[in-house]
Amino acid sequence: MISQARAAGVGALITVGTTTADSLASAQLAGRHPEVWSTAGVHPLHALDPRDWDQMRRAGAHPRCVAWGELGLDRHYPSPTQEEQRPVLEEQLALVARWNDELGAKPVVVHCRRAVADLLPVLASSGLPRDRFVFHCFTEGPDEARAVLDFGAWISFTGVVTFRSAPEVQRAAMLVPMDRLMCETDAPYLAPEPVRGTRPCTPAMVMHVARHLAVLRNVPWEDFERTVDANACRFFGLPEGCGR
Ligand SMILES: [Zn+2]
Repeated sequence: MISQARAAGVGALITVGTTTADSLASAQLAGRHPEVWSTAGVHPLHALDPRDWDQMRRAGAHPRCVAWGELGLDRHYPSPTQEEQRPVLEEQLALVARWNDELGAKPVVVHCRRAVADLLPVLASSGLPRDRFVFHCFTEGPDEARAVLDFGAWISFTGVVTFRSAPEVQRAAMLVPMDRLMCETDAPYLAPEPVRGTRPCTPAMVMHVARHLAVLRNVPWEDFERTVDANACRFFGLPEGCGR
């Protein structure tokens, strides 16, 4: 998958942690491949999985780990309930604040599904810098995008923004200032048009997402690619030019 990505023009990949074990595995994977970086966090849909905060700190301290998360709230599924997700989120944000002091500050990848209004006050009360949050795989509409942008966070789009069935997400994508926009695959799910339905979705397919966004926003491709590459490098602290 890494060589496929390279062949498609994707030079850097971030593999995302969703549980303690997964975050450690992601850091190890990143340690083995110069193109790969990792994140460390408990995804809201894994709120009931076993977790070990000391080991999570270890995953976050790995030199290839560039962000905390995914963390957040997901109202799409009945389980885990909001009452089960929320304490894990709050505990995690408090630890992130402490770990940022101890290990050096890292940005936060936010998972949010139909929960913008619930999530923004929790993120605000964490005291973490607002421009160090990215709402990844954004699948809401323009009103929610406006709320996230007013809050001060970044927004990242996946294959969903290429779906004909998602005009609201496309309207949201028009609103995001160029310096707070990123794109991603959220692999292994959500393969973009024109390869929608392919399983697994792979990192190489991010080029389809990026090209779609460039056309949607009427930005010349070269400018768009250069800007989103630079955005990702700046947000995640990746070496400049590593996306090429
Ligand atoms: Zn997510």
